[in-house]
Amino acid sequence: MKKKILLLLVFLAFFVMPTGCSVNNENHSPISATGELVVHYIDVGQADAILIELPNSQNMLIDAGNNSDGKTVAEYINDRGIQRLDYIVATHPHADHIGGMDTVINAFPVGKVYAPKATANTKFFEDFLLAVKDRELKISAVKGPMIVLDDGELKVSFIAPSRGSYENLNDWSVVTKIQYSKTSFMFTGDAEKESEEEMLLQSAVRLEADVLKVGHHGSRTSTSAAFLEAVSPRYAVISAGSGNDYGHPHSQVLEALDAADVKVYRTDLNGTIVAASDGENITFTTLKNTVEPRAPAAATAAAGYIGNKNTRKFHLPSCLSLPEPSNQIRLQTRDEAINSGFVPCKICNP
Ligand SMILES: [Zn+2]
Ligand SMILES: [Zn+2]
Repeated sequence: MKKKILLLLVFLAFFVMPTGCSVNNENHSPISATGELVVHYIDVGQADAILIELPNSQNMLIDAGNNSDGKTVAEYINDRGIQRLDYIVATHPHADHIGGMDTVINAFPVGKVYAPKATANTKFFEDFLLAVKDRELKISAVKGPMIVLDDGELKVSFIAPSRGSYENLNDWSVVTKIQYSKTSFMFTGDAEKESEEEMLLQSAVRLEADVLKVGHHGSRTSTSAAFLEAVSPRYAVISAGSGNDYGHPHSQVLEALDAADVKVYRTDLNGTIVAASDGENITFTTLKNTVEPRAPAAATAAAGYIGNKNTRKFHLPSCLSLPEPSNQIRLQTRDEAINSGFVPCKICNP
């Protein structure tokens, strides 16, 4: 009981409600030369972890997988050459969303941390709060609709949760929408039908999005017909673990997406999924479909490897998480890489 009270106090002490205008102007930076919005739906099994490289050079992380995924997520971010997370969104206090968050928060400088005003009496949630406290950060409570960033071409907003309380922890999920020029993405966490109904009732919020991160790992408790119609995505991404205990994604959801002519990507089938938008077009790359079957040794040797000067990891040239060009070092053979102290990347397994 004492522990519960202590935890609640810690929680309240580190929670700030946004005051007045909720537009966050302090972090503005110009649209970068690359002008790409890159969204990585990291394969963390039956969990969510989404890394977003915004076209203004800022970075956002939505969820960090289970506790055991924290290291994988941190390494993935590091391998992208990302050194700072400007925004962290902990969609809701379930372990498969916030479990790895403490590891990530401890690994990078962090700007803002957003979460709904919901609590859970778990070690994972406590670890998340303690990591926030240790890094002297504060949690900004999300109450939608709320604008995080508005640079004209680039707009990031939270469209849920909008109520003060929910019975189901999943309905507390922060739902994020990112609009970049003519393209848009929606990230729903585990929001279920109750939250979807609320979003449908909010006339101020435009729900249409080109890419929908399907709610609650493709469970039938989310993605109602009305919500799917309002969002009318061209692409859907489902984050689920293969052979998970819940039967996610459920067949009803897959059938509804199919009937609506939505192209579906799934982390359980495709591995990590990367979507890139230049503001006009969106292209998808998936780990399992793009990495060629292992080439014969001679061919691989000829193609060589790419080492990361900072992390001392080495990759196949086709790896999705190659370091920045300035951090790359060309390695001719696998032996050369190993003998020079490089360790194989866990994503491309060179
Ligand atoms: Zn979940
Ligand atoms: Zn959940």
